[in-house]
Amino acid sequence: MTLVQLGIPRSLDLRDLPRAEIPGLYVHIPFCFHKCHYCDFYSITRQTEERMTRFIDLMLREAELWRDLRVKPKTIFFGGGTPSLLPLEQMRRLIEGLRNRFDFSQLNEFTVEANPATVSLEYCQMLREAGVDRLSFGAQSFNPSELSTLERHHNPDDVPRSVEIAHRARFTRLNVDLIYAIPGQDLASWSQSLERAIALNTPHLSCYGLTYEPNTPIAVKRRLGLLQPAEESLELQMLHHTRDCLAQIGKPAYEISNYATFGEECRHNLLYWNGSSYVALGPSASSHVHGTRWKNRPHLGEWEASITAGERPAVDIETLTPLQRAGELAMLQLRLSAGLNFDAFSTQTGCDARTIFADQLQRLSNLQMIEIDERGFRLTNKGLNVADAVASEFLAPSE
Ligand code: SF4
Repeated sequence: MTLVQLGIPRSLDLRDLPRAEIPGLYVHIPFCFHKCHYCDFYSITRQTEERMTRFIDLMLREAELWRDLRVKPKTIFFGGGTPSLLPLEQMRRLIEGLRNRFDFSQLNEFTVEANPATVSLEYCQMLREAGVDRLSFGAQSFNPSELSTLERHHNPDDVPRSVEIAHRARFTRLNVDLIYAIPGQDLASWSQSLERAIALNTPHLSCYGLTYEPNTPIAVKRRLGLLQPAEESLELQMLHHTRDCLAQIGKPAYEISNYATFGEECRHNLLYWNGSSYVALGPSASSHVHGTRWKNRPHLGEWEASITAGERPAVDIETLTPLQRAGELAMLQLRLSAGLNFDAFSTQTGCDARTIFADQLQRLSNLQMIEIDERGFRLTNKGLNVADAVASEFLAPSE
């Protein structure tokens, strides 16, 4: 058995990777105005225009360092951080530069995350002209006191204003992100935020339960007893209320936290949940290429130093064994309402899910956590309440 088969970390040699095309491109823009208290994405809050200009230069150099991989994006996602914080000319230069370095001929979705407090018509028009066709706005809540608990620096009215501007710039594919189970939030207050988001009539909504990521200010406050997290039973009520409400208006859940009108699902995120390959640019961004995954150096200065030295900034490189890959794929696909399809799974992994997960399938269906039919299996409503625990059962398939 080789080191690669054992899944032992090693250095990244692009020649070890299959030559198949890579359909996803993620671009991490690590700048924010201010650090929201629940956020553990890598970003810095003090940046100058010079640093952002230099950042784009280096981003384009990083794109060149990955050119030997056959990145032919069907989907692109600019996340962060706050991508829309890049000055207009720098954003335009970044998009054009990527277009010159990768083959965009198969592109069928290009999303940019945008901050509702700063969106302008001119900026949206530039994005649309540059080929962006989907915007995602971080609304999180329409209640000012909940926004302040999260340390979000925008006003609830910024969200409808941004959606309107996006429409004027000819965007139709829009997403609004919301967070529930915020300390102090009750079901009525969550319903009001959800209703305000529904009223915007965007084809896609993401609704996440608040998580207390280690070392974030909100997790520290919780540890110190400075805030009271929502009861688990309330959080589940909010989850099921959201699913019912959005299903009734034709935006059913297609993933645990994501809701869309048919055809408006986020294709880029589906690519993650379906175990496809993607390359990510920028500090701390994670890539996965045909079973090998890595992370980019997690700090801006280290990432800049790697690129300046002409080195790919990859660390924590790991190649999964076929069984590990199968386990991870099952775990990811359980997040989807469609669940895992036996035939597609076997084509993709070479493994028969009915065999390698025989124990799990029997046990979890006896517990009514999953439902199984001839096509595949998926979470039940009961399983949804403990989705992470159910998914983790699939991490250890049998040989
Ligand atoms: S939640 Fe978004 S805007 Fe807030 S700090 Fe994190 S990346 Fe920045």
